[in-house]
Amino acid sequence: MKALKELTRPNIWDLKPYSSARDEYKGLEASVFLDANENPYNNPYNRYPDPLQRDLKEMLAPIKKVKPENIFLGNGSDEAIDLVYRAFCEPDVDNVVAIDPTYGMYKVCADVNNVDYRNVLLNADYQFSADDLLASADERTKLIFLCSPNNPTGNDMLRSEIEKIITTFDGLVILDEAYNDFSDRPSFLSELDKYPNLIVLQTFSKAMGCAGIRLGMAFASAEIIDILNKIKYPYNVNLLTQHQAMEMLKNYPQVEAWVKTLIEERAYLEKTFSALPCTEKIYPSDANFFLAKVTDAKAIYDYLVAKGIIVRNRSSIALCKDCLRVTVGTREENNQLIEALKQYK
Ligand code: PMP
Repeated sequence: MKALKELTRPNIWDLKPYSSARDEYKGLEASVFLDANENPYNNPYNRYPDPLQRDLKEMLAPIKKVKPENIFLGNGSDEAIDLVYRAFCEPDVDNVVAIDPTYGMYKVCADVNNVDYRNVLLNADYQFSADDLLASADERTKLIFLCSPNNPTGNDMLRSEIEKIITTFDGLVILDEAYNDFSDRPSFLSELDKYPNLIVLQTFSKAMGCAGIRLGMAFASAEIIDILNKIKYPYNVNLLTQHQAMEMLKNYPQVEAWVKTLIEERAYLEKTFSALPCTEKIYPSDANFFLAKVTDAKAIYDYLVAKGIIVRNRSSIALCKDCLRVTVGTREENNQLIEALKQYK
């Protein structure tokens, strides 16, 4: 890996971050807060939240088996995706490499930040070749984006290829594990100490059942996390979100139970979906959704919409012609989908 200073935009490396009132005062004993121009009434919403979300990170760290200083929290993982561009990619100069198809925000954030986005097609099994990705990189490539299980294909990427990228590439590797809870393959979080150029993304939006509170996690070396914290908005994770996330973590067995149920439902839905006349192929999934090749994705999508059932038409995406992406729901929702499709002619 190149030195972190060499990978970071010079203006960001030199940046003196905004210091908020709650950054300056870190003690716990005070009871009179006259430092932040807040309204003294309407407790607790009158107070700014902890800018570094320390209580939440203390709870999260043992669950994820990392140290609090290896955690960045943001307004969804989308915030972390945007911040890595802003921290490491000089607009109009640097570039990133990513697999294709994959989660659309990597490209949108590249475009917003005016960074050249180089995508490398997956093969027919929806796997990537590390050599192909590395061949697309040059000395101005700062980031490589990988997503495993991948969206929209649903499958885990081969661990050996992921490892080859991390160990060979001299920039930063962003490994998006938004759906890892639904996979039987282990997360790369336990490898964080081994790989100083690895940033793992996870989210409260999927297995944790908290898409509405907008909370994403990035895990990396303390040096990388410091850079992300330096450029984020001071109070990027609001008080309600921090509280709700801690409530959810107290109830972690519930999350594990949901995951178990959703994996069982995935198997049920894949089996019943494969038997439908309109289904041509189901792609194997390690996530809480699967990709299905159907006879006519647009017509079936429209037919389902008319019945009030929404799936995702991924036909316009590379390698996904006539594919629908179906999220696993409750047994009742899954049966409504199957019953509707049985009647499709
Ligand atoms: N990564 C992947 C692979 C996703 O599919 C999504 C959302 N669909 C996200 C990240 C965004 O997650 P968040 O809700 O935390 O912004």
